[in-house]
Amino acid sequence: MRPATNWHNAIAHIDADGFYAGCEAVRHPELKGRPICVLSNQNAFVVAKSYDAKALGITTAMSVWDAKRLAPNAAFLSPDFRYYGQISGKMFSILRRYSPDIEVYSIDEGFMDMNGIRSLWHKGYRQIADEIRECVKREVGITVSIGISNTKTLAKIASESNKPDGTTVIPGKRIERFLADIPVQAVPGIGYKRASMLGKFRIRTAGDLAAADEGLIRRLMGKHGLALWYELNGQPVQRVEVNPPNPKSVARTSSMGEVTSVRTTIAAYLARHVMRLISDLVARRLLARRIGVFLTYKSFETTGMEIRLDHPTNSLKRISKAVMLALDRLYQEGVLYRGSGVIATHISQSETATEDLFGLMHEDLRQEKLMLTVNEINQKHGNHMITSAMASTAKKNPGRPPRFQYPVHTAG
Ligand SMILES: [Mg+2]
Repeated sequence: MRPATNWHNAIAHIDADGFYAGCEAVRHPELKGRPICVLSNQNAFVVAKSYDAKALGITTAMSVWDAKRLAPNAAFLSPDFRYYGQISGKMFSILRRYSPDIEVYSIDEGFMDMNGIRSLWHKGYRQIADEIRECVKREVGITVSIGISNTKTLAKIASESNKPDGTTVIPGKRIERFLADIPVQAVPGIGYKRASMLGKFRIRTAGDLAAADEGLIRRLMGKHGLALWYELNGQPVQRVEVNPPNPKSVARTSSMGEVTSVRTTIAAYLARHVMRLISDLVARRLLARRIGVFLTYKSFETTGMEIRLDHPTNSLKRISKAVMLALDRLYQEGVLYRGSGVIATHISQSETATEDLFGLMHEDLRQEKLMLTVNEINQKHGNHMITSAMASTAKKNPGRPPRFQYPVHTAG
């Protein structure tokens, strides 16, 4: 299946490069030339790093101790989502100058419906993308990479293929050649497990996947896999959602890629989930009232609990505190775990990207009093709680494809 034309549909994916580290570089010009690492709450692990820190071998979820050994010269900074939310807002306001059809996908990435944009601006797609990159660099101080193609999936792969500070434009007739060099794991939604399964069918590149038989893909990967297959072939399934409905829940989960009983490893993964969860909440101006935390045992059974916060929040401090409290209760020494997750539920809309000043003052008056109510701490119910939270989100829009998501993480 090949699209008939180059531009029957045009979508851009705009993605900031090393966003948190980039934000810190903006307000700390004195750090120029030094690698930057942003740490988890309580400064235990690296959760984001600049490109030069990455080049020194620093990885996400590495302990500060190890990172300091690798890069003694690096700057290690505490995260500040209030500030990242402001920078994110500035970036998106620049995007909205070019098109009103912007989907805020996360704190540092968005999609733009570009149909009709060329005649509006009397410019080509590449020219518009270059202009946006320059504008963000000049006015905000960070760099972004932009991919433009027929579908969200292709736009995302395109922006990812040329980082940092790149523009990649893939018209319909160049999709096939472009995908031939992309490993199948680089396709949004294809994790390690799926990639190795596809490998057994000689599907190793994104091009192999796009060229595979439709029926085979449906058998191997189901409905969502089929949607992905259409998207890779330039047929849009996922629309740019300018006003996505408030989700019932926001979840971050993943397997740890190993089976472990080491508490700090589990805590590092949870800290990373919390950071990503907060960035989702901040980007979409959402507050959560309850936080669910779960751990998956080696046996694939799950233990979990839910914590009720005393008021809706997207504060890193509060949510981290709740999650670490849950870990204290759930973790058992000597037991092997393979995955973990954090789910925010009872979601509401906030007026500003982060809690407003009044809210923060209010929070101070509460003297950081965090009333935590443990709802469930039961191995079987834990699992039920998690799946029901996820199922209720999925059930929200029957017959409609779920919101574009990648990668597909499972707690297994
Ligand atoms: Mg990014």
